[in-house]
Amino acid sequence: MKGHQPATTAPGAAGIDPAALTREQLLGWRCALCGTLLTGDRPIGTVTLSQGPTLTTYPLWACDPNCTTENVWRAALTHAAGCEACRTGECATGQRHLDAYATAIRQEHAEGAG
Ligand SMILES: [Zn+2]
Ligand SMILES: [Zn+2]
Repeated sequence: MKGHQPATTAPGAAGIDPAALTREQLLGWRCALCGTLLTGDRPIGTVTLSQGPTLTTYPLWACDPNCTTENVWRAALTHAAGCEACRTGECATGQRHLDAYATAIRQEHAEGAG
């Protein structure tokens, strides 16, 4: 995946497309990055969803201190298994999962180095 451009103009928190989030993620029950049921959580910003004329802003939450690689990888596989766009390699959500996985691996290594 060479030449991937960082999404600097993406809407919402951490470049997350609110349309790709489940209701449980919007309501803060599950991690917005990996979909894990939250026990400890940290705020990662907000997204705004438009439903007709109504704009609703949701605060997003993620695993605290960070998503485990296992959870992120499982989320990536679960998404890709049911996603048509991922098969053609043009899925922003799939890419976000891979980015989250790369971040989780980096963080895990950083902690391991202690
Ligand atoms: Zn998470
Ligand atoms: Zn996808």
